[in-house]
Amino acid sequence: MGSDGFAYQRQRMVDALREEGITDRRVLEAMNEVPRHFFVPSHLRHQAYGQDVSIDIGEGQTISQPRVVAAMTQAAAVKPSSRVLEVGTGSGYQAAILATLCQFVFTVERIASLAREAKRRLDALGFENVSVKVMDGTLGWRAMAPYDAILVTAGAPEIPEPLLEQLADGGRLVVPVGDRGRQVLTVVERHGERFRRMELQGACFVPLIGRHGWREEGR
Ligand code: SAM
Repeated sequence: MGSDGFAYQRQRMVDALREEGITDRRVLEAMNEVPRHFFVPSHLRHQAYGQDVSIDIGEGQTISQPRVVAAMTQAAAVKPSSRVLEVGTGSGYQAAILATLCQFVFTVERIASLAREAKRRLDALGFENVSVKVMDGTLGWRAMAPYDAILVTAGAPEIPEPLLEQLADGGRLVVPVGDRGRQVLTVVERHGERFRRMELQGACFVPLIGRHGWREEGR
């Protein structure tokens, strides 16, 4: 994926992530590899590598800031052998980062046009280890469970129960939990039938809408 005219900006983004405390070498390498500008509308490409920019991708949705993608990916602690579920495909960028690091990524999106466009991008970049599906991700994707990691990239009012059930033993769920405007990035680690919950940092995601999330117009 290398020389595409944005290699310098991408390297600077990764340097800034390192300075901000992202220490996982594989995560930094993946973020240096995946062409983030490919996942944003063409007229906003010049903003693609800004640390604090969450960019509008249409349908009222956004691609998360690089620092949030890096923090969530690091928290998920994925391995090359991991099978991962992402809830909230959006642009497909987070799925591309995960697909660079893991064996297989299942990603679900409730808005069909976003899922279609994300799949087109992932195919164009040659990712063969990603499946994209249109559905309510608060239900998980039961047929493909269990998952070594689950990342939810929209803000949940509480941790969706089906996602806990679909986590493999030793697996990690990373999910922003809070109110519609502000959440805390939360990590849940499964140990048999016990779940250890940790809180990482504040976050500000679009709402997770679905059966185990928010209602479309508030609840
Ligand atoms: N991970 C994305 C990326 O890399 O571009 C950014 C995701 S964006 C912040 C949140 C996404 O979650 C939106 O595309 C939204 O439509 C989706 N979403 C919200 N509720 C959902 C649900 N119940 N199931 C699946 N997707 C959902």
